[in-house]
Amino acid sequence: MKKGFVRLAMPEIQTDSIVDGEGIRSVIWFQGCSHDCPGCHNPETHDFKAGTEVAIADVKKQIDELEFQEGVTFSGGDPMMQIEALEELAKYVKEKGMDVWCYTGYTFEEVLELAKKNEHYMNALKYIDALVDGRFIMALKSFDVVFRGSSNQRIIDVAKSLEKGKVVKYKNYK
Ligand code: SF4
Repeated sequence: MKKGFVRLAMPEIQTDSIVDGEGIRSVIWFQGCSHDCPGCHNPETHDFKAGTEVAIADVKKQIDELEFQEGVTFSGGDPMMQIEALEELAKYVKEKGMDVWCYTGYTFEEVLELAKKNEHYMNALKYIDALVDGRFIMALKSFDVVFRGSSNQRIIDVAKSLEKGKVVKYKNYK
């Protein structure tokens, strides 16, 4: 990906979602995911060459125009697979006073491993309030776990988890 650009599944930010995290949220859909979870709900977001290349500056302008949104969720695709764009956009959202949720097919522990080799992972984590982690596993598909597809996926309080050195769940989500 060219510097200053991000590949998105939907070039427009989706607004007013109540299913992609807590409250009324806007969703930025990243294009590209190699986890290949059987039963994935968004297979059209897997191809790293599909979607639309968008200037990060243009995404920021869209963020500036958001109204009545409690936060922004990064989903996809796997936003962690365009880590530098994720870092820049998560920082921008956070500095505007909105909270940040991020979905990834990596487990939190895998993200920490990636962070040992690439500083952008840790930088991005610092701007993420809630990380919904792990691959979708069909055998664990559940309608009882809010904001997730399967029961292995966790909603993680990133700041507390980094501070304590172990996974801490976000608020009261089980
Ligand atoms: S991580 Fe998410 S987007 Fe990627 S294959 Fe799995 S369910 Fe689909």
